[in-house]
Amino acid sequence: MRARRHFTRSLRFRLTAGYALLFALLLLGTAALFRERLAYTLNSEAHDLLDQEWVAMKGYLHIDKVPARLHAIEHEPCPPYKATWEYDKVDPDEDFAVERLRRVYVLRDATGCVMEVSTIYQSIGTEQPSQVEAAIRSGQPVWKRRVSPHGIPYLIRAGVIFDDKHHSPFYVAVGRPMDEGEKILNRYTWMYAGLIPLSLLCGCLLGWFLTGRALVPVMEVAETAQRISGSNLSLRIPPRSAGDELDYLILTFNRMIERLESSFQQIRQFSTDVSHELRTPITAIRGQLEVALFTAKTIDQYRDATLNSLQDVERLSQIVRALLLLSQAESGQLALQKTRVDLAAVVRDVVEQFQIPAEGAHVGLSAGLPAECPAEVDRVQIERMLSNLLSNALKFTPAGGRVHVALRSLPEAIEIEVEDTGCGIPEEHIPHIFERFYRVPAQETCGSPEPGLGLGLSFVAWIAKAHGGRVRVRSTPGQGTRFTVTLPARVAVPPVLEPVPTEA
Ligand code: ADP
Repeated sequence: MRARRHFTRSLRFRLTAGYALLFALLLLGTAALFRERLAYTLNSEAHDLLDQEWVAMKGYLHIDKVPARLHAIEHEPCPPYKATWEYDKVDPDEDFAVERLRRVYVLRDATGCVMEVSTIYQSIGTEQPSQVEAAIRSGQPVWKRRVSPHGIPYLIRAGVIFDDKHHSPFYVAVGRPMDEGEKILNRYTWMYAGLIPLSLLCGCLLGWFLTGRALVPVMEVAETAQRISGSNLSLRIPPRSAGDELDYLILTFNRMIERLESSFQQIRQFSTDVSHELRTPITAIRGQLEVALFTAKTIDQYRDATLNSLQDVERLSQIVRALLLLSQAESGQLALQKTRVDLAAVVRDVVEQFQIPAEGAHVGLSAGLPAECPAEVDRVQIERMLSNLLSNALKFTPAGGRVHVALRSLPEAIEIEVEDTGCGIPEEHIPHIFERFYRVPAQETCGSPEPGLGLGLSFVAWIAKAHGGRVRVRSTPGQGTRFTVTLPARVAVPPVLEPVPTEA
């Protein structure tokens, strides 16, 4: 039951059914239209033929008044006229034509009295005298259909003719059987009745086959997707190079897997990095505690071991705090608390806080700031961003170097720049420095030996992005590095203009 429901809901079945329905409607529509046109043509042909026969009949049939005596004997009860058919009786064609005309024929005088009538006409029923009178009065041709007791349909054309001498009106009707036309129509109907199911069956089979073929790549996509798991994300669907929608689907799918693969890779790398970062201080703490427990003898030795352990615990909690904050930031749980601040004052404060460490490292720290720069930002996050950039700049700038901070308010953006004359970053590492835990290897020789967490720039990037901005880096190894944070101008608040005092 379940399989059947699945089958009828399948795309292949629905496409074929839709296609078959459309095909059936088209076939029925064309068949009905064609039948209607055929019936119309047969009918107008019959009308034309009867019109021609009517004209011919008028040439052959003549009506004369008969002498009183003759009439009294021969033509009771329709006095006093007699109909004669005048034609070349030796000519077989004319003989046949008149014979045909008289096969379905009636002639009646103005009173409705039947002067001549063929057997067939009698069998299909003659008209009432009142109908004859009405036809004579109107003088217009009358068309009608009659059916014989044997079921043969007849088309009748009736009208008025006049006798040669006195111009008295007479009612004449001629007809012809329509069974040939009916037969043609029936044959056509039966032919189509047989052809429609046959072509429908062929159409369904063809539709089933074509949709099956068209859906093969879709099934391939589905099967590949099923085989893909966290461990074999390198699987790709081979492109068909047909340039159609399915190729586009395959391309999109492959790109999605590519992105998934890179995200999985990042997650794996992240887990490795976190375990590595946490393992180092934990091993150190363990070592120091063991020293304290087994080898320390004096109170100073205990104190040293405890102090070192405390430092490592502090580093551990720093890592955990930073990770927690970063994951909150990236999952959108850390909302910005924007307020209207003077960005120039914020930057000045942070730079002042770094003056003492800069002097300690013998690095010159300067700032180029405008008098004021109003903006709507999250002050705490902007301070954190600047602190990270400045501490990096001081850390990677050897003694005697310089660090300069600049703030610029441009019409379309605000730029915060931190530039140092430190050891710089080799080009191949630049795309990775914003990744979590990424540290440029072999930089120990430059600046401070204190190892960082590799999380500071991830924060910088997130804070800039959360404000709708971005971070750019330019660095030349051995010469220095410049980080430029661009915030959109809409974070800037236009200065409130003082109202101009008007003169009295
Ligand atoms: P860390 O805590 O290690 O400083 P960050 O994420 O702040 O972590 O920086 C990542 C890495 O980028 C640093 O370890 C360092 O290798 C490199 N880096 C950052 N800023 C600078 C700079 N101003 N000069 C040279 N290298 C830098």
